[in-house]
Amino acid sequence: MELDLLPLEFPSDRKRPFVIAGPCSAETEEQVMTTARQLASKGCHMFRAGVWKPRTKPGGFEGHGEPALAWLQQVKKETGMLTAIEVAKPEHVELALKYGVDILWIGARTTVNPFAVQELADSLKGVDIPVLVKNPVSPDLELWIGALLRFNRAGIKRLGAIHRGFSSVDQKLYRNAPMWHIPIELRRRYTNLPIVCDPSHMGGRRDLVAPLCQQAMDMGFDGLIVESHCNPDEAWSDASQQLVPDVLDFIIDRLVIRDNAEMTESLASLRKQIDEMDNALMDLLTKRMRISREIAIYKKEHNMAVVQATRYNEILDKRGAQGSLCGMSPDFVRRIYEAIHEESVRQQMEIINK
Ligand code: PEP
Ligand code: MN
Repeated sequence: MELDLLPLEFPSDRKRPFVIAGPCSAETEEQVMTTARQLASKGCHMFRAGVWKPRTKPGGFEGHGEPALAWLQQVKKETGMLTAIEVAKPEHVELALKYGVDILWIGARTTVNPFAVQELADSLKGVDIPVLVKNPVSPDLELWIGALLRFNRAGIKRLGAIHRGFSSVDQKLYRNAPMWHIPIELRRRYTNLPIVCDPSHMGGRRDLVAPLCQQAMDMGFDGLIVESHCNPDEAWSDASQQLVPDVLDFIIDRLVIRDNAEMTESLASLRKQIDEMDNALMDLLTKRMRISREIAIYKKEHNMAVVQATRYNEILDKRGAQGSLCGMSPDFVRRIYEAIHEESVRQQMEIINK
């Protein structure tokens, strides 16, 4: 399904990326204004702040709601920055529009719910405002795309995605696992959909923000949304991941933005070699499948089961060990062989059940 898009056209001095910065939550008028002034003085053009906060457990600070929208209005008036907030209900949309908020984003806990997303999309019918859709908390690309499609069908054309990582049971380093292959697949399917990285919620820790920003740039992301607070240690939410505007500016300033536009001759030649390797791999796989189908005929004639567990284990172990000798992760080689085996079994079943 297609997305009918228009460019976001977000302001940015530097060649790339655009940056939306601001505190996790709008806590007090003073905190909002101080942070906003500091960010604006560093050349920031877009200010984020949470006005309604989706907290995992009750009892935390859930945002000031409407009174905080007046502070954002003040930010815009005084600094000229565009303002961005999270909306989770049609009432939030209505109030955001009433107070002239410029950019809306959909939180990860909302994107998971198609009912909530549809209600929001319906509330935006006939409104022209940029909407950024965070990935759902679970690593479900289709659900993420589904939410983007719902807004697009409601007429939102200035649309973008925010990659903030995914919850996982065995998380180690990151608060939310990046699983970069998911936004990369999103980029492959919708090449003109802007993708923004949220290194703050992904890393969950101040020291992880800079490397994640750089990684996002290396993957060709279009922008960043980063949490910045005038006094992070005292923040009412997400204290450990927020940066003072000064540090954020330092990080953004040092990002290396690689130019993809120009393909040098040596790169073209390396790519040609890769294409040749891929052709050879496809050739080999085709031959392997042909032999596998011959084995199926043998198994059928001798009344053998398709999956021979000992043989399968032998292949996985042998190739895993071989892979690690060749400098590849054994787990990667295992996954390749699991996939090859699955296709092989599918083809053998076709023959045996014929
Ligand atoms: C936020 O941006 O402050 C937020 C709540 O993020 P997420 O929806 O990604 O958890
Ligand atoms: Mn936050």
